[in-house]
Parts: sequence; structure tokens; C-alpha cells
Amino acid sequence: MKVRILKGTNQIGGCITEITSDKGTKIIIDFGEDLPDDLEKNKKTNPNIDGLTIGKKKYDAVFITHSHGDHIGLINYILDDIPVYVEGLSKIIYTLLSVFTYKDIRFKTENMEFKKPIMVNNDMKITPYLVDHSSYNSAMILIEADGKRILHTGDFRSNGLKGQDFAPTLKEIGHVDMIITEGTSLSRKNIDNETEEQLMNRAHETFLKYDQIFILQSSTNIDRLQGFYDLAKITGKTFIEDIFTANLTTSLNEEKIPSPFNRDDVYTWVISKYRQNKSLKFKRKYVYPFTERIKQKSYKNKHYCLMVKGSMLEAIKKLYAKNFIDNACLIYSMWDGYKEKDEIKSFLEEIKKYGIKDVINLHTSGHADRKTISMLNELGAKKVIPIHTTNPEELVNILNNVVLVEEKEVISV
Ligand SMILES: [Zn+2]
Ligand SMILES: [Zn+2]
Repeated sequence: MKVRILKGTNQIGGCITEITSDKGTKIIIDFGEDLPDDLEKNKKTNPNIDGLTIGKKKYDAVFITHSHGDHIGLINYILDDIPVYVEGLSKIIYTLLSVFTYKDIRFKTENMEFKKPIMVNNDMKITPYLVDHSSYNSAMILIEADGKRILHTGDFRSNGLKGQDFAPTLKEIGHVDMIITEGTSLSRKNIDNETEEQLMNRAHETFLKYDQIFILQSSTNIDRLQGFYDLAKITGKTFIEDIFTANLTTSLNEEKIPSPFNRDDVYTWVISKYRQNKSLKFKRKYVYPFTERIKQKSYKNKHYCLMVKGSMLEAIKKLYAKNFIDNACLIYSMWDGYKEKDEIKSFLEEIKKYGIKDVINLHTSGHADRKTISMLNELGAKKVIPIHTTNPEELVNILNNVVLVEEKEVISV
């Protein structure tokens, strides 16, 4: 096989990998947009890749590791006759995110299931494995052809709720010839990631100290959501999901994920924007099913835990005006870098005027620390290619046989 990193040898996010078999079967792994920093330079537009997004079809299939925008965000540009494989729950997340943010959606995707191999042209075998990451149901992808095996890690970690499965999964995958791995944490300090469980132990103190807890986190970080729900329950607070989160938890439809439809103590916060400005079609599908699950009472006892978004300042103002905020904090539970985004920056400043006196940083990484990355050595790969990092050189100190490559350089396996 031949591998080319079309994009992303020296940036976090927006990585595109091309793999070609000796017989000429050609696939792409991940097709997402650049993260906010790089987005300024490179707005979300058609990347004009010949045979993939323009011209005549030259690729046989595209495989998406998970639903974060930097991995899936550009799939609507892929030519219609190229199948795009997305795992079922990741597709639900992608579709909802697109609908709520008015982004173009690719409706037609093929279903991909963990540990169910997919054959491309009877020549290349693709097997996705479930892996721990901050986006629900993320995959690592094993590619087999020409008697060789390549593992593309996607984004991964071992400090979340599925972390204990990482070592057994590697064991199951067994020997590979090449690894293409993310290295997000290589540009950060060498520290072991806090686990989601340890994070929730710290959060417990915050839940005891404040009566109203506002939480700013990515809705797709389901591990975190489950943790905060448990804390709300333990500390006697009503758990209230914003309308997007409520749609997401409901659509994922898994018993362990708290939603307004599978827990009597989960409520939905439907802010006026969604009652007024949206089309009737949107409201019928995404708003009305939840309006019965709102209770004014849930604020009135003033002990609540509320999921918020940076766009919800007006709604917070109203709660404050109604005297539902008097001992409140906001838990900031996302990557620090997002604080520089205009909307989040002004949101964090403005909320202080409306009774939310403290912003508490509680976050742990969605990306593998060095100890976790080093476990990949067990697979015995002869070539290891770092992507999704701004410090690829550092990988040499962690893994054997690292090959630093340029974008579009051809590497054989
Ligand atoms: Zn990523
Ligand atoms: Zn990710």
C-alpha cells in the first residue's frame, strides 16, 4: 500500500489521509475542516481535491473516524458517487450539529459498525474499532490490503469512561506494519491526563458550594455529561439540558445517557429563540417534543444544574431578572483555546453581570497523553507517522520507528 497525508502533518485537526492499494483501490480517512485557529486562514470551502470533490470519481470510499468537525466537517463536498462510511451514532451527532448550526449536510452516508469489516473492491479490508475519545463512539480504523496492515488511530485517549478497553483493543488488533497516529498532546506539557472520574471528584466540591451550576461543555462529550448528571443527582440539583443537548441525548437513545425521555429528573431548557425564530418544520421535529418536559418549578427551587451554550446569554439574563440566580457559578469544561473565540470570550465576561460570579475551569483532555501513546509500541509497527499535531518531532521520544513526513509525500508499506 501507499500512504499520503494530503493535509495535517503539522496542524491539529483537518487531517486528510489517502491510502492506495497495489491494485489501485483508493480510500480517504477523515475529511474535516480546520480548527478555529487555522480556519481564519482557510475558511470552510470546497478543498477542490481532484477525483474526490471535483472532476470525475477517483476514490473508492471515504471513512470517518468520529463526529468532531475537524474529522467530518467537509463530507458534504465529496462527490455523490463516492460512498462515505460513518458509524451510526456519529452520524446522528453530525446530522443534529449540522441542522442546529445551519451547515450543509451530506444526507447519504453508508453505515459502519465496530468490528464489522467492510470490503472495498474485494481488495481492501477496513475494520473500525471503538475507541475512547471526547466524541461519542469514535473509531480507530484498521486497513488491510496487499498482505499488510495499517492502523489509523483517529483521535483517542484512555482517560475516559471507555479507557480501560484501550489495551485489550490493541491486543485484539495485534501486529500492524504501519501506524498513523494523532499527536495532539505532543505540543503540551508531559503530564498524565486526569481521568473523567478524578475530574468529577473535583467537580463534586463545586456542586456542593454553589446552588446554581451553569455548564459550558461540548454536548458531544457524553462521558462528561453523564458525570455531571450523576453529580446533580447526588447533590439534589435538577438537571436541565439545553435544547440541542436534549435532542442529542434523546436521539442517541442509549439507556446510560440521561435524556428527558429516559429519566424523570432530566428537563429541557427551550429558550425563546427556538420558540419564535425557527421554521414550523424545525419546531415540530426538534422543539415541540421537548416543551412538555420543561418545568418552571425546576428553577424555582434554585437548585439546578443547567447546560448552556455561548449563544444563550439573553436567556441567562431572563433567569437573572426573574431572581432564579443568586449563588451561581459557570463550569467551563472545554479546551482552553476556545476561550479566545469571540462568542465565548464575550459570553464569559458578560455572565458576571447576571449573577454568575465565578468561572470554574474543570476539564480533562480528549487526547492521548504520552503514556497512552506509548502503548502503540506493542503493535510493532515498522513505520509510525504522526498527524494531528503541531509537534510531530516529539513523537520520536515516545514511539519506535517514527517517520516524519511532508504533506502529500508518498510512503510505502
Ligand atoms: Zn481532531
Ligand atoms: Zn476529535
